[in-house]
Amino acid sequence: MSYQRINIDTASPQAPEASILLIYTGGTMGMGKDESGALVPFDFQRILDNVPSLKTFNLSLTVISFEEPIDSSNVSPDHWVEISKIIADNYDDQDGFVILHGTDTMAYTASALSFMLEGLNKPVVLTGAQLPISAARSDARENLITAIEIASRRENGSPVVPEVCIYFNYFLLRGNRSKKMESSHFDAFKSENYPALAVSGVEIDFDFAAIRKVSDDSKLQLNTQLDNNIIVLKLFPGISESSVTAVLNTPGVRGVVLETFGAGNAQTAEWLTAALQTAITKGIVIFNVSQCEGGKVRQGEYETSRHLKQIGVLSGSDITTEAAVTKMMILLGKNLPQEILTKNLTNPICGEMT
Ligand code: ASP
Repeated sequence: MSYQRINIDTASPQAPEASILLIYTGGTMGMGKDESGALVPFDFQRILDNVPSLKTFNLSLTVISFEEPIDSSNVSPDHWVEISKIIADNYDDQDGFVILHGTDTMAYTASALSFMLEGLNKPVVLTGAQLPISAARSDARENLITAIEIASRRENGSPVVPEVCIYFNYFLLRGNRSKKMESSHFDAFKSENYPALAVSGVEIDFDFAAIRKVSDDSKLQLNTQLDNNIIVLKLFPGISESSVTAVLNTPGVRGVVLETFGAGNAQTAEWLTAALQTAITKGIVIFNVSQCEGGKVRQGEYETSRHLKQIGVLSGSDITTEAAVTKMMILLGKNLPQEILTKNLTNPICGEMT
């Protein structure tokens, strides 16, 4: 992939207070209408022209922009690898990173990066907008300015938020706990199972107890092998045996995120238990994630989940589907022995589950 790179020193002639790398991938923030009236992503200059207040920071800002910005519905693991490599290549020179990204799949990208950037001890803040930055009522300016401020915040010489997070509409959320919940209003993201890391008002109020503790001298290590041979299977009343069997027999499939009801419950129909059991016997990992936004999977609490536990379906606790999908891609990409894979899936790696 090729990039455009620009440097903006907003501190000159003084020394900058921090160095921030902005990675512009696309999304509504920088979009404009094409001839047919559809919103398509444009280059970063459009953003800069619309945020003159960026110049009031005392920062060294480097902007790396995808040559062809994308609508985030087109994001793929290859883009995650590219973003993680940009971060790794610039890691020693930068104090923090801000990724401008479409909202549609931002929670997937944030989750993936949290697993890919092992040993991260600097802020990686994703943000975007519901309205293009050129629109008078756009939410883009506030999101961008505060995301940059959060990425550059330090206390006692260390970054305040040394983890992958999403800043949107006054809330800073842990990336791998976030979900896009709203496509019309400005409050696009929620994190039902984990508190906000910060709330922005007159001041930015950080919840220090909720922010991940990391060691200042941990070393960044990239995990860039992702295996996408996984499937999300969402149960519903009336789901047919033939469709479940077809999904589980997909050639090459190695993992299934099984979206269940309530606290991890599913139909007790014999054919379903048998189909899941056959898949598990073939070595397919089945990860139980609830369709509820809040609460967690508690396999065995109801009769309708006891059978899942008995046949070896793994509990996803309170993980989101976005984090479950990307965690599975990363762990399957490591080709771990079965017990280690099971242990890593069912235990938190970087704050994604309780
Ligand atoms: N379709 C856009 C995207 O995700 C929506 C947005 O940016 O909010 O790229």
